[in-house]
Amino acid sequence: MAIIIDGKAVAEKIINELKQKVSSMETKPHLAVIQVGDNPASTIYVNLKKKRAEEIGIKSSVINLSEAVSEKELINKIKELNNDKNVTSILVQLPLPKHINANNIIKTILPEKDVDGFTNQNAGSLLNGMIPSAYPCTPKGVMRLLDEYNIKIEGKHAVIVGRSNIVGKPLAIMLLNRNATVTICHSKTNNLKEITKQADILVSAVGKKVIFNDMVKPNAVVIDVGIFKDNYNKTTGDVDFENVKEIASYITPVPKGVGPMTIASLMENTVDLYNENLK
Ligand code: NAP
Repeated sequence: MAIIIDGKAVAEKIINELKQKVSSMETKPHLAVIQVGDNPASTIYVNLKKKRAEEIGIKSSVINLSEAVSEKELINKIKELNNDKNVTSILVQLPLPKHINANNIIKTILPEKDVDGFTNQNAGSLLNGMIPSAYPCTPKGVMRLLDEYNIKIEGKHAVIVGRSNIVGKPLAIMLLNRNATVTICHSKTNNLKEITKQADILVSAVGKKVIFNDMVKPNAVVIDVGIFKDNYNKTTGDVDFENVKEIASYITPVPKGVGPMTIASLMENTVDLYNENLK
């Protein structure tokens, strides 16, 4: 029976540390979040981020733009925030409406205010083994969980299912930088099961139930990044938790696994960017 990794508790610890740090600051970090349209899931995430920021003492503003906003208008808004000395971090809530090219938007954010670490400069720094202004929040949260539970990374075979720019790809680089041997799988991977069964550390970031117990090596560490609603409208993850926990050594639940760590990492990035900009 696996040890259940308590992402909520680790996230709480990080938030409490940040509260202390921020309380001793004369001026406070300021996180600006842009939400385009009113996707209900995005609204939940944006409100959660605002609530967490306020709890810590970080200033936050949410800029709501209409679903019909043009790419040019959104770019202009970001430029305005780039030039606003009072704003120290900028986050554009994804996904964006189809008529807007997310890459064009992300590359407009000043790298030193890029709290998600998604800009070409920060992603490039990560790839080149340099320290980016900010590490992408979800992969950063996953790495922190592995470290909190003293899970050895060096020399281990890490298999990541999912290759998005926000989770799979940056996490692969972060694990590689820590000397794991990394395999990335995706929807076109042949014989997924044969590959996942080789994993010492198995991370799933897909958004569908794809990991079952016959795909997991005994004593593997299983990290479930996926979050979605099942047929009964219950929040669930990619991993068949009840069965996989019987053979894994460590496993993250959904909810209360990676999710809270993403928000905690975002708050940490907000504080770090603010401190960096003061230098
Ligand atoms: P995404 O951009 O949709 O990427 C999903 C990835 O899964 C793609 O690489 C896709 O392959 C791959 N995939 C789809 N079906 C597959 C299959 N049957 N077998 C193997 N691979 C498959 O998603 P994302 O933004 O990375 O998010 C993934 C999940 O994590 C979602 O549930 C999301 O809600 C969740 N998430 C959670 C957090 C958190 O804080 N816990 C943060 C971010 C995301 P292709 O590239 O070939 O299409």
